[in-house]
Amino acid sequence: MSEVLRLEAISKTYGKDGPAPVEVLHGLELTVARGEVVALVAPSGAGKSTLLHIAGLLDTPDSGQIVLNGRDMTGLADRTRTEARRQELGFVYQFHHLLPEFSAAENIILPQLANGTGRRAAAERAADLLDRVGLAHRANHRPAQLSGGEQQRVAFCRALANAPALLLADEPTGNLDPETSDRVFEVLMALVRDTGMSALIATHNHALAGRMDRVIGLTEMAL
Ligand code: ADP
Repeated sequence: MSEVLRLEAISKTYGKDGPAPVEVLHGLELTVARGEVVALVAPSGAGKSTLLHIAGLLDTPDSGQIVLNGRDMTGLADRTRTEARRQELGFVYQFHHLLPEFSAAENIILPQLANGTGRRAAAERAADLLDRVGLAHRANHRPAQLSGGEQQRVAFCRALANAPALLLADEPTGNLDPETSDRVFEVLMALVRDTGMSALIATHNHALAGRMDRVIGLTEMAL
């Protein structure tokens, strides 16, 4: 099976029954192949976050189908969706959202424990991931002791902790200065390529988007 994600005829309107409904997605079609890195480039307000939330099983569309790893996720119980989210998806946001009272390593270990991995294996994976992003020497530091670029690199490791099939990222370097953004993006791409993971990455940055396998624009996708 060569597709990791397929979105079929996805429509979403906010405030449907209210006085001012906002139609964000209308008949959207999108596939992400295994190992493919897709850039989602669209102006602010075009619906990038909405699309990522729907693909990430955090929000439900009004109509349409979400097929993840060959499995139709539409209409499944919350518990099954939560499980699929934990096992098959990784998330990165503009802000790192690391747990402040835990070290970098612990932030990467905890999601693995929640997924049933033993502590020793989880610690080994955290160490390996931190090493790959050049942060082995920061394993025991808390997020507040790290720079913005370092925090974001730890957040990438956390997203990959459970070896997801698909990474969903919403402006993953949007909060960093241009030079740091460039370097941190390189690290993310290397991680994604090394693990053979697929990714759908929303960005404003056309230069970064140009380094991915395919660029899609949201307005072009809507029917
Ligand atoms: P982007 O990520 O591209 O900036 P969003 O997906 O966040 O776009 O938002 C798309 C549109 O939907 C915007 O016009 C936004 O104001 C609107 N929107 C987003 N979330 C909600 C919500 N919960 N209720 C009403 N409107 C919303």
